[in-house]
Amino acid sequence: MEKIIAINAGSSTLKFKLFEMPEEKVISSGAVDRIGIPGSNFTIKTADGHKTKIEQPIKNHEEAVDLLLQQLLKLDIIKDYHEITGVGHRVVAGGEIFQDSALINDQVLKDIEDLKEYAPLHNPANATGIRAFKKILPDITSVAVFDTSFHGTLPEKNYLYSIPYEYYEKYGARKYGAHGTSHRYVAGQAAKLMQKPLEDLKLITLHLGAGSSITAIKDGKSFDTSMGFTPLAGITMATRSGDIDVSLVVYLMEKLNIKDPRKMLEILNEKSGLLGLSQLSPDLRDILDAADDGNHRAEVAVDILVNDIVKYIGSYATEMGGLDGIVFTAGIGENSVPIRQKVVNRLGIFNAKLDDELNQQRGERFINQADSAIKIMVIPTNEELAIAREVERFKKMED
Ligand code: AMP
Repeated sequence: MEKIIAINAGSSTLKFKLFEMPEEKVISSGAVDRIGIPGSNFTIKTADGHKTKIEQPIKNHEEAVDLLLQQLLKLDIIKDYHEITGVGHRVVAGGEIFQDSALINDQVLKDIEDLKEYAPLHNPANATGIRAFKKILPDITSVAVFDTSFHGTLPEKNYLYSIPYEYYEKYGARKYGAHGTSHRYVAGQAAKLMQKPLEDLKLITLHLGAGSSITAIKDGKSFDTSMGFTPLAGITMATRSGDIDVSLVVYLMEKLNIKDPRKMLEILNEKSGLLGLSQLSPDLRDILDAADDGNHRAEVAVDILVNDIVKYIGSYATEMGGLDGIVFTAGIGENSVPIRQKVVNRLGIFNAKLDDELNQQRGERFINQADSAIKIMVIPTNEELAIAREVERFKKMED
């Protein structure tokens, strides 16, 4: 039996999930937090749910990987490092180079680093995680799984911006999208649930979390998606503005006397969205509670979120020339009963009918009434499993 580990490295975090394959059984999961900053800690969970937390200085990602592997041995989750035969790394930006996951070699690692302009916070951190694993486990199959690669199938009409074409040619100024691993995974699960080939379906997948994106999936491929050159675009998010008239950005820079455009980007990325609108919290749960108490700004924030979602559904269904099903996933999509209700209630034009009881339940399921013209599903996303499956795919190609 082989074990494959899925890694998601951030600038000061390293999350992992260890799978026994091909059973796809999670045998351990956890995270190293606050790498290189005071308060470093490591939590690890075993298959039986037992949790261990270690607090100690963890200077860098290499130390984090070292500690993680040591603990896997100590807790008897593995007997030997060599039981881990593959590692899959989440990488945020793959640009136009990576239209598929890639077996990591020196060139691939360099390309990931060179793509840092597209994801300045993420790609360097992802590369650091890759390097740390390479150093400690140099011989195992190592695969980079890109958030953008599922969107490599976007047609030109959906990835080009209406700006001088040479900016696309010279600088790669185009839409790349994000959350591709999640959209691909839930679309695959949706097809299984619907018992139809994915290629025959027109689906809209709603990844609604702290960051949110919506994808139109036609002929089994990503056809359009709401995030853009970066994950700032699309619908209102926890702290990100989503789509905005760029002239307003210049106007506000003048009004606020902001000289550094990065400062303005920081406002749009970190102080906007639900937080900016409500001035209460980036967490939708707090905003829904405040709206229930009659807080006007919270009510408006919820209205804007729901409106953004249904606008994308309407336009994507039109673009695809039909709609067979929609999928709710991620923190909000999987957990928020009222948001699903508010969204589906606005889809009368599609003859979509929500089953209120099914909407209250949990897990992967349909939540539509039997006579709904479109299927409505909740499918918990599982990016780590999707990453582990990619590693398996590459291992089979190597054999
Ligand atoms: P994610 O980025 O997928 O981890 O999702 C995190 C987001 O999900 C947070 O911003 C929460 O506000 C939101 N969330 C989680 N549970 C709920 C819930 N029950 N109702 C509304 N929002 C939720």
